[in-house]
Amino acid sequence: MSQVDKPVAVDEPAGAAGKVNLLGLSPAKLEAFFASLGEKRFRAQQVSKWIHQQGVDRFEDMTNIAKPLRAKLAEVAEIRPPELVQQYDSADGTRKWLIRVSGGSCVETVFIPDKGRGTLCVSSQVGCSLDCSFCATGKQGFQRDLTTAEIVGQLWLAAKSFGSLGPDGERVVSNVVLMGMGEPLLNFDNVVDAVNLMMDDNAYGLSKRRVTLSTSGVVPMLDELGKHTDVSLAVSLHAPNDALRDELVPINRKYPIAMLLASVKRYLDGLPDKHRRVTIEYTLIDGVNDRPEHAQQLVDLLRDVPSKINLIPFNPFSASQYRRVSNNSLYRFRDILLQAGYTATIRTTRGDDIDAACGQLAGVVNDRTRRSERHRRRSTGALEPVRFVQGETE
Ligand code: SAH
Ligand code: SF4
Repeated sequence: MSQVDKPVAVDEPAGAAGKVNLLGLSPAKLEAFFASLGEKRFRAQQVSKWIHQQGVDRFEDMTNIAKPLRAKLAEVAEIRPPELVQQYDSADGTRKWLIRVSGGSCVETVFIPDKGRGTLCVSSQVGCSLDCSFCATGKQGFQRDLTTAEIVGQLWLAAKSFGSLGPDGERVVSNVVLMGMGEPLLNFDNVVDAVNLMMDDNAYGLSKRRVTLSTSGVVPMLDELGKHTDVSLAVSLHAPNDALRDELVPINRKYPIAMLLASVKRYLDGLPDKHRRVTIEYTLIDGVNDRPEHAQQLVDLLRDVPSKINLIPFNPFSASQYRRVSNNSLYRFRDILLQAGYTATIRTTRGDDIDAACGQLAGVVNDRTRRSERHRRRSTGALEPVRFVQGETE
């Protein structure tokens, strides 16, 4: 082995000890790191399997790696997940983790088991700058981007909490959705590295159908996305016309619906699998976007966009005047879509007993985090649970 003094420069910020955190290196960056140590590519693959498939965070446990290399790795690198603050378990199997990222802020990650699959809802930023009118995260403002290690670390912690593999060799976490806090396309590089790791065979090996990036429609970055990954796509539409969407999703004033849907079609057209569809997310708010004419407009709008529609009853929170859609309006809306031949699902509420409701992940978290930062010296008690999201019904 030819030894070098310093590891290759990588984007992932070094920890306090100046060590490179291997948890956040994409497959290509991990290989580059090993090349900088004079090591072959397959070493990177072996170490990747230890980290992401076995949940190992100490080099000394990597028994198929020669001892001198293990020692060298321990000198220059580390495997550092974000800090797990608390885990909440619901009677219905939903599990929620409060996770502290470097700097002291918290994000939440939610696991929702449903009909033989387990979906993990992960965050990409602390807060969000886009200020959608119905979103608790948006009300917090933007604090910072998560690093790749902090995004992948949510999956690492979740997989580890279940044991990496399920009882029959099935993965407990079978699907990942980037529908937690933040706008993934505004944290582009870190999110691309994270989803590519989730889909890498030497890491989590999830198929591209099982990793979904949800965006409110940052068109230039969506146009860029297809050059870097073939992750599944969900788009937060929430309104069938620009006047209403301008109000609900302010980024629409910059990138209106026609521009957004054209970009979505380009993304789908660029995918090798021509059968793939975009998931259109539509949060239904009482008296705002839940009328039959809205459903009809949506039918017309999506006519030539390969799509399935996920209806999300608005999840109320204290700082919002909006109300949840009535069940009558919800089913009437869904039926109009079904009658027009669309696939339309309703996202159900899960994990009520642990305040789990993904989609507005951690509306309270940032406030609470700021509060806990202010009072850090005085208060060391457990943090209050946060309202957050759920699963889908087919
Ligand atoms: N920023 C990305 C991903 C995070 S939000 C996006 O906007 O797509 C994930 C989903 O939850 C989005 O569809 C979002 O519109 C929805 N959502 C946010 N707040 C909600 C609320 N209070 N009730 C229901 N859905 C909400
Ligand atoms: Fe940000 Fe998404 Fe919330 Fe809009 S809905 S404020 S884009 S997290």
